[in-house]
Amino acid sequence: MKEIVCKLLVIGAGPGGYICAIRAGQLGVDTVIVEAVKAGGTCLNIGCIPSKALIHAAEEFEKVSHMAGNGGPLGITVETPKLDLAKTIAWKDGIVGRLNSGVLGLLRKAKVKIVHGRAQFRDGKTVEVETETGTQVIRAETVVIATGSEPVELPFLPFGGPVISSTDALSLKTVPQKLVVVGGGYIGLELGTAFAKMGAQVTVVEATPQILPQYDAELVKPVAKRLADLGIRVLTGARAKGLSGNALLIETAEGTEEQLEADKILVTVGRKPRTEGWGLDELDLDRAGKFLRIDDRCRTSMRGIHAIGDITGEPMLAHRAMAQGEMVAEIVAGRKRTWDKRCIPAVCFTDPEIVTAGLSPDEARAQGYDVRVGQFPFNANGRAMTMLSEDGFVRIVARADSNLVLGIQAVGAGVSELSSAFALAIEMGARLEDVAATIHAHPTRSEGFQEAALKALGHALHI
Ligand SMILES: Cc1cc2nc3c(=O)[nH]c(=O)nc-3n(C[C@H](O)[C@H](O)[C@H](O)COP(=O)(O)OP(=O)(O)OC[C@H]3O[C@@H](n4cnc5c(N)ncnc54)[C@H](O)[C@@H]3O)c2cc1C
Repeated sequence: MKEIVCKLLVIGAGPGGYICAIRAGQLGVDTVIVEAVKAGGTCLNIGCIPSKALIHAAEEFEKVSHMAGNGGPLGITVETPKLDLAKTIAWKDGIVGRLNSGVLGLLRKAKVKIVHGRAQFRDGKTVEVETETGTQVIRAETVVIATGSEPVELPFLPFGGPVISSTDALSLKTVPQKLVVVGGGYIGLELGTAFAKMGAQVTVVEATPQILPQYDAELVKPVAKRLADLGIRVLTGARAKGLSGNALLIETAEGTEEQLEADKILVTVGRKPRTEGWGLDELDLDRAGKFLRIDDRCRTSMRGIHAIGDITGEPMLAHRAMAQGEMVAEIVAGRKRTWDKRCIPAVCFTDPEIVTAGLSPDEARAQGYDVRVGQFPFNANGRAMTMLSEDGFVRIVARADSNLVLGIQAVGAGVSELSSAFALAIEMGARLEDVAATIHAHPTRSEGFQEAALKALGHALHI
């Protein structure tokens, strides 16, 4: 097969890689992208999109189930609803398929050459790809590594049989009667909550003293309350130890052993960068722990090799990968760019949702800031009341000396859609007065954001 020579080679077509290739193509850079599985990567095929589809279906089912019987406060009654999970999964697969073809179409439109197969490094400028029609050698001036991450497997609970990963959980055809989730981070809780809403009896086993350990206790409280309301058993400070027949053996926080009967055991204890098995070791790039070390232009320790996305570390989020991909494409095209982002918002699609952007009060204080904090509860927000979702709040953190906004957090139904307003405020260097003086449409949950700023300034209007 004839060798391909190009200016830019992108390895991996996840959100980092495909955005990088599209932008490079738009800028006239001769670009090739190699993808081993399916365009869209983890996010589109087995991550963000399919999980949110399942969460939405579960929410709808739970809402309707709630109306069966006495109808609840809205006065709507329905017959007992049924869920055909195989049909739900087929619908989810349809969405994934549409987005998948969409990404391929966008790459073609940007004149990017797509090679299907697994890339294997020969040297820092050359890869070999085993394609359906033979070995394809690709030589490039610049290489971008965007190979992403994969689930961490526990040695004493290897994937297979009843032990499943998030990928398997997104393709189950029936709802397991008893589901044990090992790992109470955002992926485990999002999926665990969805299955509980679809009728599974769910237990969450989390080793640290709190679920969602990366969030502060105040933000997690409404989520923990809802898990309890859904009948989900949460065991914190508990460690999974292995299988015992069809049960998961755990050591509880009190040091006793317990067996948790399970049809499926979903292990979501984190993700690791995909660095092995494709010749990356030969290049001996500098590492930052398990991840590839990069600088503020996503350059690795080898000239001409950039890395973006999950392989470069936390936060392992699709929008960070995309922003890095866009920046690197512009750098390759000769533009002057560096990583100058002030915040990377993060959303936890639990029930209720959590959004964080910038610094929490404790993080800001740890960085030496004297802070002003304003918090506004959704139970004082008219729109939240009309939507039966009064749990949660918006919190804003600002420098006490200048009122510069350092961070914004929220927990509540639908707050994921406020994440862009939060990030914009921080990115634009807003002060509390800017947020407070912006007219927020009524009635919306976003008024909670304005009120939190007013509260921090000492003159909230609705509390
Ligand atoms: C269940 C779940 C839910 C998630 N939900 C969210 C969410 O709501 N929001 C969010 O921001 N993030 C979410 N994430 C994380 C998000 O999916 C990742 O942060 C994102 O996909 C990282 O993008 P990436 O481009 O770095 O890598 P990936 O998306 O992992 O893509 C890497 C691609 O490289 C390919 N590849 C690997 N090695 C080779 C090779 N040698 N040759 C060719 N191709 C190769 C892979 O096949 C893959 O397609 C979720 C993840 C999971 C698992």
